[in-house]
Amino acid sequence: MLAYTYIDKGDFQLLEKPRPTLQSNTDAIVRVTLASICSSDLHIKHGSVPRAVKGITVGHEMVGVVEEVGSAVTSVKVGDRVTVNVETFCGECFFCRKGFVNNCTDPDGGWALGCRIDGGQTEYVRVPLAQQGLNKIPDSVSDEQALLVGDVLATGFWGARISEITEEDTVLIIGAGPTGLCTLLCVMLKKPKRIIVCEKDEDRIKFVNQHYPEVLTVSPENVAEFVKDNSDHSGADVVLEVAGSEDTFRLAWECARPNAIVTVVALYDKPQTLPLPDMYGKNLIFKTCGVDRCYCDGYHT
Ligand SMILES: [Zn+2]
Ligand SMILES: [Zn+2]
Repeated sequence: MLAYTYIDKGDFQLLEKPRPTLQSNTDAIVRVTLASICSSDLHIKHGSVPRAVKGITVGHEMVGVVEEVGSAVTSVKVGDRVTVNVETFCGECFFCRKGFVNNCTDPDGGWALGCRIDGGQTEYVRVPLAQQGLNKIPDSVSDEQALLVGDVLATGFWGARISEITEEDTVLIIGAGPTGLCTLLCVMLKKPKRIIVCEKDEDRIKFVNQHYPEVLTVSPENVAEFVKDNSDHSGADVVLEVAGSEDTFRLAWECARPNAIVTVVALYDKPQTLPLPDMYGKNLIFKTCGVDRCYCDGYHT
């Protein structure tokens, strides 16, 4: 089968590889019907994911059909249409029991697929710890509709979930790419008083205005002033940073009111700085990236 493979920094190639087989009774083999490209794939390509293993097949978000299951996998059966969670996790260790599945201590725990082991930009993928990592797609939902469940939508859900949003809040979301939009949808579930989306791309702004007219939109140049004028306490009560570009980390905390929560959903190519003298007195609470994607099977609050 053909597999899109990480060779070295800047070098991905389509290579012929053998079809994967079960290696443990907790594995499943999934025939991939659709796989997405994530900005984290680009981070691997740029060499900014040190733990990515050269030679692995990239791709960590996909849907498909279960072809084989190990004897310990009872949650899905052969023939089921499933979403594959980017994070594989044991469900039993200290971190998993607390819902912090990104930090699962199993050797295959956390972000393994398409990073440390072969992922899904190919025809078949071996999913370890499949009891926890696969979710059945209902008949009424198409593969295309379900594709973002395992990573992008789960990321937006996690961001909204940990941000302690209340109905009195003005929430600022920086970035309206796919993850920003999924974050927006999940923030909407929390019914905050106001949502402001900051985005530099005009087409993305148009998309938000067209589909979510109740959401305010603004460009990065004007966001600081705009948030001041459109919030009750001269700054956002909650900021979700989903852009991950050069200046957006600073923008995130600058637009926050004192004592706000700033959730960093984005992954950066470079280190960011905390200029503490500039921030003095703001008493901010930062929540940093390392997304726990363990709510893919349905609605949790
Ligand atoms: Zn991803
Ligand atoms: Zn675990």
